Amino acid sequence: MPIIIKSQRELAIMRAAGQIVAATLARLAEAVRPGVCTAELDEMAHAEATARGAYPAFKGYRGFPASICASINEEIVHGIPSPERVLRAGDIVSLDFGAVFEGFYGDAAITVAVGEVSPEARRLLAVTERALFEGLALARPSGFLSDISHAVQRCAESAGFSVVRQYVGHGIGRAMHEEPQIPNFGPPGRGPRLRPGMTLAIEPMVNIGGPETALLADQWTVVTADGSLSAHFEHTVAITADGHEILTRADERRLGG
Ligand code: MG
Repeated sequence: MPIIIKSQRELAIMRAAGQIVAATLARLAEAVRPGVCTAELDEMAHAEATARGAYPAFKGYRGFPASICASINEEIVHGIPSPERVLRAGDIVSLDFGAVFEGFYGDAAITVAVGEVSPEARRLLAVTERALFEGLALARPSGFLSDISHAVQRCAESAGFSVVRQYVGHGIGRAMHEEPQIPNFGPPGRGPRLRPGMTLAIEPMVNIGGPETALLADQWTVVTADGSLSAHFEHTVAITADGHEILTRADERRLGG
């Protein structure tokens, strides 16, 4: 399967989809506090996206029952929102949200501290977000795809953390998952060359402990095998003539409140 290059018209729609994702995640981040359950965040995301003319991309995807993935503490990704999962001070919660708008997808994730968290948890969030941006710095034409992967891994591991290997980033467009797969590890200088019009969801998942994962009995929730905390940050970006554009970064001018 080739990597699909998007036209300017298609990129304009993906920009709109990305802004809906950004606005929704910003709203969720504001709502995170002790006592809130993840089902409430899920309802907010559904309402926010549909009010903006989009549909939550995860809902019904391979049978996933909700609009967001909400993964608490040692949960890495794909946590199922629930009224029974009440956030407590000291937790970290990863919120992953995708939306489809006029046939195109946007996908992004943030990890948020609930009240006061430990210094180690704060450092995990900072390093994981920095790993995303160090990867993004290499999202530019004529670079290699694995330059991104390598930069993410180097950032996480130099901080003493590990990157998850079993789950990876992905191309995105008319489908939520397109070619190529984007690992968060590996040597630089490999894989396809990046070209303008490629659209990529880059999403480091970083653990305080080892990289190994386990799947819970619900068949969705992925946790760290050693029970250590995990964080997840993701942006959908387009490769441009001179670098990249982050499609899921909130742009107040474009959002118009
Ligand atoms: Mg993704």
